[in-house]
Amino acid sequence: MLQFAVEVLKVKHVIVCGHYGCGGVRAALSGKRHGLIDHWLAPIRCLYEDDVEHFDRILDFEARLNAVCEANVLVQVRAVAANPFVLDAWARGQKLAIHGWIYSIKDGLIRDLQASVSGRKDAARLRVRTAALPKPAPPRASESADG
Ligand SMILES: [Zn+2]
Repeated sequence: MLQFAVEVLKVKHVIVCGHYGCGGVRAALSGKRHGLIDHWLAPIRCLYEDDVEHFDRILDFEARLNAVCEANVLVQVRAVAANPFVLDAWARGQKLAIHGWIYSIKDGLIRDLQASVSGRKDAARLRVRTAALPKPAPPRASESADG
């Protein structure tokens, strides 16, 4: 599919679109066993556990779930950007961008995760942390110069 789109149709944009409140991500975060689908959930579980302290700073479960949904889109963007057919296209100088979007069933809106990749260098720069995650705490007042 991707090979046909890139090599024959020469598409210029590939969109990876996830969605908030994803039942698959929710199941992966629950830590319970679900049977065979655990094989598909394992990479999401890994993504969460690789940065568990970061994600667990988000106390509201739904917000944490959505942060993992966003991070999962970025992981998929990286996976597409590492695909051999995509790498070949870039090596040929073909114009091709991979975009990470996420859809909310609640408000019907699609959000651009600002994680577009249009070459190998972009792909290397892409990090899985997203805007939905809490920013580091600002320096305490006692540490500031005028404090
Ligand atoms: Zn889903």
